[in-house]
Order: sequence, then structure tokens, then C-alpha cells
Amino acid sequence: MSAILHLKTTYMPTLKEDPSDADIASAKLLIRSGMIRKEAAGLYTFLPLGQRVLAKIEQIIREEMDSHGGQELLMPFVQNAELWRESGRWDVYGDEMLRMTDRHGIEFCLGPTHEEVITDLVKNELRSYKDLPQNLYHIQLKFRDERRPRFGLLRSREFIMKDAYSFDANEEGLDKSYGLMREAYTRMFERMGFEFRTVVADSGEIGGSGSEEFMAIAETGECDLVYCDCGYAADTEIGECTPVPTQYDAAELKKIETPGVHTIAELAEFLGCPESSTAKAFSGIDAEGTVWVAFVPGDYEVNEIKVSRLAKGFRPLSDEEMEQHGLVKGSMGPVGLPAGVKVAADESLRGIERWVVGANEDGFHYVGAKQGEDFQVDAWGDLCVVKTGDACPKCGKPMDGARGIEVGQIFKLGTKYSEAMGATFMDEDGKEKPFIMGCYGVGVSRSLAAAVEQCHDESGIVWPVGIAPAHVCVIPLTVNDDLVHPAAEKIAQELADMGLEVALDDRKERAGVKFADADLIGWPYQIVVGKRGLENGEVELKKRATGEKQTVKLEQINELFGSACTQGAATVDVDKLGALLN
Ligand code: ATP
Ligand code: MG
Repeated sequence: MSAILHLKTTYMPTLKEDPSDADIASAKLLIRSGMIRKEAAGLYTFLPLGQRVLAKIEQIIREEMDSHGGQELLMPFVQNAELWRESGRWDVYGDEMLRMTDRHGIEFCLGPTHEEVITDLVKNELRSYKDLPQNLYHIQLKFRDERRPRFGLLRSREFIMKDAYSFDANEEGLDKSYGLMREAYTRMFERMGFEFRTVVADSGEIGGSGSEEFMAIAETGECDLVYCDCGYAADTEIGECTPVPTQYDAAELKKIETPGVHTIAELAEFLGCPESSTAKAFSGIDAEGTVWVAFVPGDYEVNEIKVSRLAKGFRPLSDEEMEQHGLVKGSMGPVGLPAGVKVAADESLRGIERWVVGANEDGFHYVGAKQGEDFQVDAWGDLCVVKTGDACPKCGKPMDGARGIEVGQIFKLGTKYSEAMGATFMDEDGKEKPFIMGCYGVGVSRSLAAAVEQCHDESGIVWPVGIAPAHVCVIPLTVNDDLVHPAAEKIAQELADMGLEVALDDRKERAGVKFADADLIGWPYQIVVGKRGLENGEVELKKRATGEKQTVKLEQINELFGSACTQGAATVDVDKLGALLN
């Protein structure tokens, strides 16, 4: 049985106006509804209502973690530099890590993640294969000194993460641990009410063998996704891409004057051919200082991340650098490039014998440039950014596109940390082996904001029932009335007794203020208790998600809400509750 939340005594400073420095809907609404306050760039305070939502999200995470083999612990926020030196990350983590020195001159950092601490923890205690598997998690602050903290809680500097780490004796064990976490994550994001997609993620850099990200679909998301009905989904930064370039009709190498032509669109129009008959060029430099020009079909963009798989450390050249290296922006081509410049090309262009390319001379292009004769390709690969409408690599159907917010990621780490830090166990065959690890993160505070990005309208937040600060808000229209207020109290108490989370707006405010705040805060249901209605034995019930209002007889309220509660157990079926009045 939960206590009634009396709004009269709740610290919930709601605002009429959008805060001027909030740059995204969730930040504006969370501040306006009195759930969070900005303390400094990327630092936020959770006020009581926001804290309630946070606690509910954490509770869902705990329940799903615990029922999928997780064990909760709590590791320190402040971490010793020594551990990071052992793993080799102290010098490479970069400026996102906030470092400090204590009074004894010992270096520390604010934990941006906890692989080092957990590996150090188990290192001397998990000794045998018999101790495995283990899956340990905590819900803890993280600090990453983001270059540009923005979008409120979506990209803050201090944030709350649930991070879990699994330890297994072999790959099959890891697959199982990973599978359990995949299930737990799917379940928890469903319970939080997200529309989300599980996408294939890049795991190359950290040397892992598999990773997926959980993306809450939202237009304001920072990630571009493609997805298919068959269940396949990927971030466009890493998603497999299979373009279908077309052959431009030219029998031999021919240089043509193309005055004023600088873009692919202009070139295609000038030649009267589809963009897919041309090759787009993109220049960059790798870690060793080799300059590369990468080519993809004209109707695609070059994917820098993919190019960097061929050319380690690849980054784009600035306009000045291009000039220094003798490259002509807007007219680059593989024929007659300056000496030492290497050519990379998308796999799909292998099948195109003669290319339409820049002539490395302003105002000129080549048609009919023959691969292997007029120029050589040094490296082939999948180099394109996949896009909406492309064929699904799993089933071949055209894919849809969306933007997403990364709310979680699961990762097969392998032995990267256990090997570097000497964390081994004695296996069945009597040999010392490094643990096979997995790591699994959920952005807890980011999830709260992502839910608001997905669920809001011009009046305010529309919380999914599973994470709302309370299920129902009872709103008496006057408070000094000896009829209305007791009736509202009674309704609130009876609903609370059934197991519902109930707020009672007993503030001395005008009805208009209470209505506006209730919409802004986003309680899933509002029960409006007024004098005139009570005389007829009625109240008004409003469903926030649809805006639908219904007059309900007093004696029907318990029955209606009771249908979503388990009698006697005082528990609420969130799905049933969300479906009332539908
Ligand atoms: P991003 O790519 O968005 O920077 P990440 O991939 O670096 O995130 P992880 O190391 O995978 O983040 O951390 C696990 C989770 O923590 C992420 O899925 C995300 O939900 C959350 N998270 C990461 N950075 C932030 C941040 N600056 N503010 C809030 N949440 C964050
Ligand atoms: Mg991530």
C-alpha cells in the first residue's frame, strides 16, 4: 500500500515559461514540471518528482537484472589511477576523464566507467571455474567531461548508469551471459514503455566480438538508424551497405570540361545520368600520415568509420590540408592523383569497369576512366553510409529509417581487461586462463529524458504508466470546501489502498493552475473532483495520453481502477492500467 503524495507539501516548483538555456523538449519539460534543476553545465539535481521517476526506472532495472542472473553491488565513484595504468587506459582515455590528486599526491579520477574496478575486485577472489559464471552490477554515478554537454540529461557530464559485468570461463558461457542480458534489456525497456530497436553496434575498436545498442526511437536522437520488418536494425554508421551503382556509357577515357560543376548532383545533371553512375570522392589521412581518397557510388556518402578500418586512424582533411597535398576539392578522381596518395573504393564499384570521376583539375571531369588501366585501387571495402530504402542485408527488403537515442548497450568484451590486468582463474583442465568478460550498460538518467522525448505534447509530459511519478492525480477543485476536499481524500485513499500510486493536489491553487500543472507533470490519469459533480455523485476522469475525459460515478471509480489491480495483493498491472478508457 503506497502513501498518498500530497502536493501541498511536495517541493515541485513548476514554471510557466521554458527555461532559456534548455535546448531540447525533455530538458525544457523536466525543468518546467519541477522534476530537475540545472546546477551547472552537464550537472543536474533531481527534485522529488524527478527522483520518484528515477527510482521507478531503477526498480525496473533491478528486477530485470536480478531475474536474469545479476547481483547488485556498489563500487566507488572515485577511482585510483593505478588501475587505469594496469589496463593501459590512463593515458588513452583522454579529456573526458576528470583527473585529480589527493593530499598524498596519489592520482585519481571520477569513474567514467567501471571495467577496471570490477576486474580488480574479482581478480584475487574468483579463483576457479567452479566460481563461474558471475554477473555483477551496480547503479552508480559516472562522470564524463563531455566536450559539449547538451540536451539536458541526454548528454550530461555527471549521469547515472547501470553497468553490469559478466565473468565466464569460455565463449559459450559468455554467449549465455550475453543472451540473458539481451533478454533483461529487452524486457526492461518494454516495461519503461519505450518504442525501441535493438541495433547491431560497432565492437571493433575495443576488440570485442559482438555488441548491440538499444535505441529509443526519437526524432531528436543523435543516432541514425535503418531497420527492417524482419527485425534487423543497424546504426547507419556501421550498418552493412550494398549499393547498386550503374555504368555510364563511355567506351574510353575522355576528359570533359565541366564549368561550375562541384557537386555530384551538378555533375549528374550536366552529364544527364543518374548520380549512381558517378563516383564520389572523400579525402583523409591515416595515423601513419598516408593520404587516402575514398570512392563510393555518387548516390551514397562515404562512411569515415568504415574507411578507418582500412586506413587506421583515418580522419578527413581540411580544405587547407587538401591544398597542401595537391588535392582539388570538388574535382578529385583516381586518375593522375599526386604521388603517394592511395585510393580506397567501395566494394560495389568493383563491378563498374569505367568510372565518372573528377580530373583533379578545377572545372574538369573524366568519363570512361578504366579501373586497373587508367588507375589502380589500393584497398576495397564496404565504405558507404547505409540509408533509408536500401536493401536489408538479412532479407533484402527495403529498409526504413529513424533516429534514435542510445539508452543501453551490451558488449562481448572477451579478455581485453582480464588479460591486461592479470585476472585469471583455474580452469577445469588445471590451466590458468583470463576471464571471458561481457559488459552491459543502461543510461538510467538518459532513459528518463528519452522517455520524455518520446512521450510529450504541447501541454507537457505524458509519462508511460510504468515510470510515471504516480499513476493517478486526484484534483479537488476547491480545498476549503467541507464536501469536495474530504471526497477527494477518500477517493485518493481508496485507490492507494488498492495498490495504486496516488497524488492529491491539495494545494490552494486555482483550478486552471492545477489542470495546467497536471498536464505538465504528466500523471497518466487525473480525477477531477468538483462540487457540482459531487452533487450528482460524479467526478471527471481524464486520461493524459489521449486527452479523453469521461464522467464517472463515484462508485464506479474503484471498479474501473480495480480492474488493473490484483485484489488483496495490492499490485498494479501496468499494461491493464494503461489501457483503461481505451
Ligand atoms: P554515447 O555514444 O551516447 O556517448 P557511449 O556509447 O559512450 O554513449 P556507453 O559507454 O555505452 O556510452 O555507456 C552506457 C550508457 O550510458 C549509454 O548507452 C548511454 O545510455 C549512457 N550514457 C553515456 N554517456 C552519457 C552521457 N554523457 N549522459 C547521459 N547518459 C550517458
Ligand atoms: Mg555505447
